[in-house]
Amino acid sequence: MTFEDLNIKRPVLNALSDMGLVTPTTIQERAFSVVMSGCDVIGIAQTGTGKTLAYLLPCLRQWTFTKDTAPQILILVPTRELVVQVVEQVKKLSAYMSVRVEGVYGGGNINTQSAQIEAGLDVLVATPGRLIDFLLRGTLKTKSIKHLVIDEVDEMLTLGFRPQLTTILDLLPKKRQNLMFSATMSDEVESLISVFFNHPTKIEAAPTGTPLENIEQTGYAVPNFNTKVNLLEMLLSDATVFSKVLVFAATKKLADALYEKLALQFPETIGVIHSNKDQSYRFRSVNNFKDGSFRVLIATDIIARGLDISDVTHVINFDVPDVPENYIHRIGRTGRYDKRGIAITFITPSESENQAAIEGLMKFAIPMLELPEDLEISTVLSHDEIPEIKMPFGKSRTPKSEAKGPAFHEKSKKNQKVNVKVRHSEKMRAKYGKPKKRKPKEGK
Ligand code: AMP
Repeated sequence: MTFEDLNIKRPVLNALSDMGLVTPTTIQERAFSVVMSGCDVIGIAQTGTGKTLAYLLPCLRQWTFTKDTAPQILILVPTRELVVQVVEQVKKLSAYMSVRVEGVYGGGNINTQSAQIEAGLDVLVATPGRLIDFLLRGTLKTKSIKHLVIDEVDEMLTLGFRPQLTTILDLLPKKRQNLMFSATMSDEVESLISVFFNHPTKIEAAPTGTPLENIEQTGYAVPNFNTKVNLLEMLLSDATVFSKVLVFAATKKLADALYEKLALQFPETIGVIHSNKDQSYRFRSVNNFKDGSFRVLIATDIIARGLDISDVTHVINFDVPDVPENYIHRIGRTGRYDKRGIAITFITPSESENQAAIEGLMKFAIPMLELPEDLEISTVLSHDEIPEIKMPFGKSRTPKSEAKGPAFHEKSKKNQKVNVKVRHSEKMRAKYGKPKKRKPKEGK
């Protein structure tokens, strides 16, 4: 089957051909007729499966030209990077149509975005918080919205966007088609669907937890954090093989620390991205990585989720994610569509439980590799790895200090003073040789 077999109009077929796309992916094929039928849809699909086009193709097929300035299609995504990415896809797909598309997100200039909305548009891509700003200001007219897409809904719920989603769903016109895409079908996603959706049809790209087949997964059992750093440096020093590498770190702090360390060794070719970095820095880092000026990008889960960067040769998990699904998302950044990719995970003994949970989800054991012979095994433990000595009553024991010899300098007279409580009677005796009574207080 090719895109020509779907009921797609010529301008979009031409755009698809310009994009070099011929055959629809499973989710695109499955979604098209279901979305066209007008029913609510819940699509279970990870990024990398072609899910963006899966909802864009039928939505644009149903779009009709009007003079109205309000949008017909509203797409909600969790991050600013995804706003930009989806806007780009809409632009490419509608290259031969008169569709106006805008993206709005927190951190961008609200007045500029306001003016863009007021100028008129057909498709609006937004993050939830910023969309609410526009709904409450009355800038965005909702009456024309016919299709609402909520992309990466599981991620939005993880990020705590449920109240915003509820507000948005309440504010939108009731008569609309809801399309929701999620990589996983969690209880939270189910509960959101049951409240707001009208018997949605479920379509799946691949069963949840199935890693894409073109990703070669491997792991290294590494004794500790510092050895992980050595291993990472060693792997990255082969710039020919490791030519476009996404390194995942569990926290922003760790991402920054790794960046500082690696930037010394690989100056100018490495970037870092996480939610504490300002927007222009984030865009710059991603763009530099996309166009190849950065060979390595260090990222946290939230930011890298959903990013569509082509030709990533390796994903390196510096740590094992404690949410098993995140592993699937991380490794899905490589092996995009029909390209091969390699995912390498560094696993310390304390992370073996997380590893087991991931392997259980995938029903696949990550093949382990021998550590390279010339790898420097560090014996220096990081702060978090130093075992805590537990007291029976729960307090950690402070190590006994060794008996100390005299200080280098004698203490000054003043500092030698020890606070000793001296009773008044003793003071009097020392002064007068006999006890002296205090004067009785007045009135006594
Ligand atoms: P997505 O899952 O929407 O993030 O898309 C992942 C990548 O797959 C994007 O770079 C798309 O351009 C690409 N892609 C989407 N659909 C197709 C298709 N039918 N054939 C080839 N590549 C595709």
